[in-house]
Amino acid sequence: MSTKKIVFYVVLFSLFLFSGNAALAQFPRFKVLAFFSNKVERAHVEFAYDAIRFFKDLTIGNGFVFDTTSNMDNLNADKLKNYALVMMLNDFPHKQSQRDAFKEYMENGGGWYGFHVAAYNDQGTKWPWLLDFLGGGVFYRNNWPPMPAKLTVDDPGHPVTKGLPQSFIAPINEWYQWKPSPRERKSIKILVTLSPDNYPFGLKDIVPDGDFPVVWTNTDYRMIYLNMGHGSMIFSDATQNKLIIDALRWVIATDKKGNVFK
Ligand code: ZN
Repeated sequence: MSTKKIVFYVVLFSLFLFSGNAALAQFPRFKVLAFFSNKVERAHVEFAYDAIRFFKDLTIGNGFVFDTTSNMDNLNADKLKNYALVMMLNDFPHKQSQRDAFKEYMENGGGWYGFHVAAYNDQGTKWPWLLDFLGGGVFYRNNWPPMPAKLTVDDPGHPVTKGLPQSFIAPINEWYQWKPSPRERKSIKILVTLSPDNYPFGLKDIVPDGDFPVVWTNTDYRMIYLNMGHGSMIFSDATQNKLIIDALRWVIATDKKGNVFK
């Protein structure tokens, strides 16, 4: 066969492969709806805008859709039905209708990705379902000022933490400690913990001791919580960014409708 002919067949075969792949791949693969508020603590608003930029950048090539809203009333069945994941950047459901819609969504296979204040709850919250969903931990105390912290990986075999170093220094954040620790719940799987090496932790408000999980999942749901989310440094570290991306990927991949990445 002449060289010209070989080149011709190679090109023809490549075109065939390319068209085949194009027909198989469906883009965008999934949709995320991120809720945020402009009316909360400034450091939490800064985080939300950084997070929106970070996740929007990940949609490059139309891999997925990242929609945002600051209207919590968008937490309703009609709006949520096309989203594989609801993200809470710096807020949580307030009204009963929003809470009911969120519970309904989660109990029917919805995905949740919560940062920082998304898990905040205290005596005033009065929403037992949320407390149960989060693993039973009520906000207990925090370090102040916001500071970097040494974190340790609890389960290096989990898809969210696979490939991370056994411990790493996470960027400046305000870290929340919970009581009782979500680790006490059988349904809760802790993935990352604030290392006791940090104690006494803080300069003004000091956390002296105690179990201090920072990333976990409730295995009864398709959800992940990360305590990061205070201030403008959260996305400044490649190791932590990897964790943030892998957490998104895992919640999406575990959708009962099928793994869109396969
Ligand atoms: Zn905060």
